[in-house]
Amino acid sequence: MARALIVVDVQNDFCEGGSLAVEGGIAVASAIAAYAAASDHDVVVATRDHHIDPGSHFSEDPDFVDSWPVHCVAGTPGAELRAELSGTRFDAVFDKGEFAAAYSGFEGRDHARGVGLADFLRDEGVTSVDVCGIATDYCVRATALDAAGAGFATTVLADLTAAVAPSNTARVVAEWEAAGVAVSGAPM
Ligand SMILES: [Zn+2]
Repeated sequence: MARALIVVDVQNDFCEGGSLAVEGGIAVASAIAAYAAASDHDVVVATRDHHIDPGSHFSEDPDFVDSWPVHCVAGTPGAELRAELSGTRFDAVFDKGEFAAAYSGFEGRDHARGVGLADFLRDEGVTSVDVCGIATDYCVRATALDAAGAGFATTVLADLTAAVAPSNTARVVAEWEAAGVAVSGAPM
């Protein structure tokens, strides 16, 4: 009956100063680091957007809904986890989106281990997950919905997330609740 903390996409390009900066990203990175240090989760994992050639996910004229400025290119500093998390011990890191858009961490793989997120969690005996990170309305949204769909008891730690468009948050919270995802804390 292990519990996991899933830290979604807290990467340089998604924080202030990055190519697809989400307002509040650095504050979320710091808050997650403090939370993880004080928490008693059995398993702590990270996901990363990790693009090589994701097709129409990148655009020179992005709509910020389905297309985006170039971000989180594999091997660049923008794809690295924020330095605030350098002291956080991750049991595994799941990279996603190499050749197509991938919002959910459950589409990712830990390449060193050769395993996807759902199988990793099940192998660790995880039955419940807490989800936090960036962005509330995209990758946190999708990761939490997939976690619930995969049968994990799922809670979003909303005060440890930051949104691309805060006006999306009410709709996303309603989607989570309809899917059985619990939401704790108010979104930042
Ligand atoms: Zn992306």
